[in-house]
Amino acid sequence: MTSGAAGEATMAAATKPTEVDAVVVGAGFSGLYMSKKLRDDLGMSYRVFEAGDDVGGTWYWNRYPGARCDSEAYVYCFSFDEDLLQEWTWSGKYPEQPEILKYLQHVADRFDLKSGIDFNTRVTSARYNEETDRWDVGTDQGEQVSAKFLITGIGCLSTGQVPNIPGRDDFQGDWYHTGSWPHEGVDFTGKRVGVIGTGSSGVQSIPVIAEQAEHLTVFQRTPQFMIPARHHTVDEHYLDDIKTRYDEVWDTARHSIAGYPYKPMDRKALDHTPEERREIYEEAWAEGGFRFSGTSFSDIGLDKRANDTAAEFIRSKIRETVEDPETAEKLLPRDHPFGSKRTLIDTNYFETYNRDNVELVDIRHAPIEEIMPTGIKTEDGEYELDIIVFATGFDAMTGSFFRMNIEGRGGEKLQDTWADGPKTYLGLSVADYPNLFMITGPGSPSVLSNMPVSIEQHVEWISDLLEYTREHDIDLVEADPEAQEAWGAEVNDNADKTFYPYADSWYLGANIPGKPRVFMPYVGGVGNYRKKCDEVAAAGYEGYKLEKAGTPAAS
Ligand code: NAP
Repeated sequence: MTSGAAGEATMAAATKPTEVDAVVVGAGFSGLYMSKKLRDDLGMSYRVFEAGDDVGGTWYWNRYPGARCDSEAYVYCFSFDEDLLQEWTWSGKYPEQPEILKYLQHVADRFDLKSGIDFNTRVTSARYNEETDRWDVGTDQGEQVSAKFLITGIGCLSTGQVPNIPGRDDFQGDWYHTGSWPHEGVDFTGKRVGVIGTGSSGVQSIPVIAEQAEHLTVFQRTPQFMIPARHHTVDEHYLDDIKTRYDEVWDTARHSIAGYPYKPMDRKALDHTPEERREIYEEAWAEGGFRFSGTSFSDIGLDKRANDTAAEFIRSKIRETVEDPETAEKLLPRDHPFGSKRTLIDTNYFETYNRDNVELVDIRHAPIEEIMPTGIKTEDGEYELDIIVFATGFDAMTGSFFRMNIEGRGGEKLQDTWADGPKTYLGLSVADYPNLFMITGPGSPSVLSNMPVSIEQHVEWISDLLEYTREHDIDLVEADPEAQEAWGAEVNDNADKTFYPYADSWYLGANIPGKPRVFMPYVGGVGNYRKKCDEVAAAGYEGYKLEKAGTPAAS
């Protein structure tokens, strides 16, 4: 499996230091930029461990048909290097997975980052050693590395969940999870395919699979709100123009709510007549993507009556698109407010149900009973299948941390510390886990934002903090439990002002049986969050205990 630069890097592991300033986990957007910072700006020794055989993180693993980014490409990239920004040209509005992966490979090559990465290497243990005040990090390659700082860039959606449906292991056909798709692809030609799940991964893959498969059965638990992507609205001239305005674009994105360069709009749905509203929604619909919410009305996310107008508009579009009224009815989202689950961006999703070879099965009202050797049995029918695609999501935000078996002070496991839900300071640190930093950890805007913008902010903030520790002769940086508690309250208070708690979503852990129902990301906006982080830094890293090893000092 190992090839090229990645293979050389893995082979070189034997000659790499086992005592370093920092271990970075993951070589996606986060790990790449973090390792560049450690090497070029901080001059620190480091190791990067990556489970895949190449860079890319999320974009390495999620290769399912139709996989695309929902953020507009010109801001779904790094902003830290002006030349990089100018020299890279995206092919359109939302690039497909191979193009994003190519971009990350380009970044890794351009800045010569691959030699610092151990590929095909998964971190399997990370224990804070109170005798040495260092992290003892173990890998599945049998290596033990000691690091002063442990920095995770493991993504928020990296641990796939395949529901444990009775009979799953006896299925005689092939099955796949969208989040760990075979690199050689899957040929659906002439096959009877079943897709379970209609979240982002499902709605992107379903129209593409339908074009290839002999027959496609979609097993839907929750109907979803979707906005058309509208790829055609961005062309070469548009992207060239953006390049001349990049400073302004990034400045707006960094101080915005969700990390996009859209100016806030103060127009309320309820201040308009139904006819005016419809016209405005039509314009936003024509614009497509996340701009639908951004350019229509500001009260959609805050006032239920306003939200209802958007929800009804989207339902009317589904009814218009889907020819069979019974199928359309099954596809109408009714049990959660618009935006309370991740808004989905689609291309030809509802149109796909007008095809003769596509069938929708409502498993909310007639749940799956078992997977048979030859297909899927629900409460009201049996469906013969050759291939099952699980588009069933991830153990989001915490699952990948737990897989690393992280232990903090006193040998306490992170699973236990977070048994009632993740507790962090700023989504960056955890009390009793000194010198551990999480890039886009729970409690930060992360998944509610355009990820590269949030990742850059975290990497730069962590780098500044590491520089500060060096300048001030500090060995240990540890979140203060009270500051952590206060931040947790702020995360919850912000969530409670929104509709997010009203839906069963992975933001709340609701998709994983037994996971505590806690809203995990910070919903207060990337601009406010950045301001808070900057204030913490300006106040000498308020909310942290900063110590010289072995000698408690003032915070
Ligand atoms: P997801 O949003 O969690 O969707 C999983 C789907 O599987 C849902 O329809 C869910 O139904 C269903 N499901 C889960 N467990 C099930 C079970 N036991 N039985 C039947 N159905 C079940 O996962 P995802 O689609 O992979 O997306 C996860 C996140 O990744 C997205 O929200 C997004 O943030 C990110 N993502 C982004 C992109 C992009 O930018 N283009 C693409 C893919 C993913 P319920 O709704 O009823 O739970």
